[in-house]
Amino acid sequence: MRAFAYERVSDAGEAQRIASETTETMFLAGGTNVTDLMRLGVARPELLVDVSGLPYDVVEHRTDGSVHIGALVRNDDLAGDTGVRARFPAVSKAVLAGASGQLRSMATTGGNLLQRTRCTYFQDVTKPCNKRVPGSGCPAIEGASRDLGVLGVSDSCIATHPSDLAVALTALDALVHIRTTDGATRSVPLDELYRLPGATPQEETTLERGELITAVELPAPPMGSSTYRKVRDRWSYAFALVSVAASLSLDNTGSVQSVRVALGGVASKPWRARTIEQMLLGERLTEAGIRTAAASEFADARTTAANAFKVDLAIDVVAAELLALAGEESR
Ligand SMILES: Cc1cc2nc3c(=O)[nH]c(=O)nc-3n(C[C@H](O)[C@H](O)[C@H](O)COP(=O)(O)OP(=O)(O)OC[C@H]3O[C@@H](n4cnc5c(N)ncnc54)[C@H](O)[C@@H]3O)c2cc1C
Ligand code: SF4
Repeated sequence: MRAFAYERVSDAGEAQRIASETTETMFLAGGTNVTDLMRLGVARPELLVDVSGLPYDVVEHRTDGSVHIGALVRNDDLAGDTGVRARFPAVSKAVLAGASGQLRSMATTGGNLLQRTRCTYFQDVTKPCNKRVPGSGCPAIEGASRDLGVLGVSDSCIATHPSDLAVALTALDALVHIRTTDGATRSVPLDELYRLPGATPQEETTLERGELITAVELPAPPMGSSTYRKVRDRWSYAFALVSVAASLSLDNTGSVQSVRVALGGVASKPWRARTIEQMLLGERLTEAGIRTAAASEFADARTTAANAFKVDLAIDVVAAELLALAGEESR
């Protein structure tokens, strides 16, 4: 591992000032992804700025029904928050579907959203990878791609975004609050934090250098119920092949009053399934209707021989989860 300097800060401005003085700086929150990548030689920072002592570690339920989740709230604290469990069950289910108890007790909300892809070529510095070394090529397209993406992918990169939490937050219209380097705050929908790979897969987010995520805000929960389901190769310690976060409410005639769906494991960012939502809104929910809408969502999918199964799998999981939510709604 390359030698590096370490500084622990107690003030966000100080963290950002230090970060702006050295080009190869990384913020350290829980450290569970940064240190892994350093051990692998994928991340080679000169300086780690430990931000874990900043006061962004509170889950605050506000009177308007929204909840503010500090960027440094630990994953286990978020999943265990009684208000989150009761009002945003998709969020706690998504967190608990990820990693292990030990990791979740260290990992933070902001770090989870900014963790890097688990594409095996990205993690192997002996292999080319456009995301790690721009212009070096993408061996995954002709290689091991079972875990990789089918929506929003490009000729340069087909990696998937690994975070379970980000999928649930995307379905729930989360806003990300960001401290800019001049100390101001800007907020973006989580969906707009992430970039699609295009020709520049190394540029994964719209964060500027030195910007800090301070919190994630969830607006008052949508009517009805919400859920999160993850399909993976092993029961634990595995990233999603496909995951689905969904919320649904029906009106008194049984038609869809509101529906939100986001997918994980299929794209380089948490994928908000707006085609599914638009096709189902106002309709009476049937399995055939859901399957048609989900198939339309995947109409532009670009698959490899190894990951084509994800399309059928995602359609099955979307259908199962929306029908289950409809069942809960009708009880
Ligand atoms: C074996 C294993 C299995 C896992 N399984 C899953 C899984 O199934 N699902 C899942 O979702 N995750 C999984 N994870 C990932 C784990 O959840 C992440 O490692 C963790 O969420 C990262 O959080 P952290 O606080 O440790 O981030 P760090 O490692 O500290 O940071 C990650 C990145 O975010 C940046 N950063 C952190 N906080 C901020 C901030 N506030 N503002 C700006 N930048 C910031 C850092 O600079 C770094 O680039 C797994 C990890 C391991 C090691
Ligand atoms: S899919 Fe993306 S991350 Fe994986 S090897 Fe190709 S360029 Fe790298």
